[in-house]
Amino acid sequence: MILLYGADTANIIKKEIESMRKSLNGYTPTLGIVRIGVSPADLSYEKGAVKKMESLSLNTKVFEFDESISSDEFLIEFKKINDDKNIDGILLFRPLPKHIDEKKVIDELDEKKDLDGISYKNIAKIFAGEKDGFAPCTTKAVMKIIESNNIELEGKNVVIVGRSMVIGKPVAMMALSKNATVTICHSKTENLKEICKKADVLIVAIGKAKMINEDYIGDNATVIDVGINFVDGKICGDVDLSNVTNASMATPVPKGVGAVTTSVLAEHLVIAAKNKLDCEIIS
Ligand code: NDP
Repeated sequence: MILLYGADTANIIKKEIESMRKSLNGYTPTLGIVRIGVSPADLSYEKGAVKKMESLSLNTKVFEFDESISSDEFLIEFKKINDDKNIDGILLFRPLPKHIDEKKVIDELDEKKDLDGISYKNIAKIFAGEKDGFAPCTTKAVMKIIESNNIELEGKNVVIVGRSMVIGKPVAMMALSKNATVTICHSKTENLKEICKKADVLIVAIGKAKMINEDYIGDNATVIDVGINFVDGKICGDVDLSNVTNASMATPVPKGVGAVTTSVLAEHLVIAAKNKLDCEIIS
């Protein structure tokens, strides 16, 4: 079984970013990270994102708010960040605290700065198969791993376990646009093992440590594990590869999908900046 390390895909994205940057004529894009509170998961992702931007000489500005901020106050602050011409793209950590009206905040977000594909316009573009919207970074990371490893989707059975708006549903639409035959499974799916076993490409995004094992994986399947779980302080995926012998390829956790997500974020930032500069030239 070949392990598909995210670093290989991240290197390809890095080259694409370097090539795209030539058209920015020396302009350095700035990512705005918006975070309420200090959740360890948010801080850990933020650290990785800042490091990635630094490694690509892209700017980052972190906007941190105390959890005590009211919904109205946060909306005012968020509008300022959204309207700031020096911020080319925004990463908003979610879920927001329960007292913040998340829908109002998302409605406010300019889809041209929505690097993680959470605005309704970007979601609609992904579902309509249009190529100019931003997909959620993790979803795009999955597709980039598939593409960069020359894994053919046309006519293949792609089974996705998980139906969230962050991964399951958008990745299903993107696989469908590559002419795969797509099945989406979830917690109420019957005969999950049998369905998964028929997959040529099995994409797992459940959030249940090591739930998918050799009983769910068919011969020569490619397995993409999106899960990030912590067991006894150690990171692991939703897939347990330890007894899997028949798969052809699989992403490890760590060093798999997670290693590509911030590269996609950087790529989206450069695209957003390029779109902004192109608009300025036209107007
Ligand atoms: P959600 O909790 O939003 O969704 C989980 C999905 O899994 C739901 O659709 C749920 O079904 C389904 N599910 C849960 N239990 C089962 C089960 N026993 N059998 C079949 N389906 C099941 O999670 P996310 O989509 O946000 O995240 C999924 C995983 O991906 C997590 O481990 C998360 O940490 C990780 N992640 C990784 C990222 C990365 O960069 N690598 C980024 C974001 C997330 P139902 O809808 O019926 O409840």
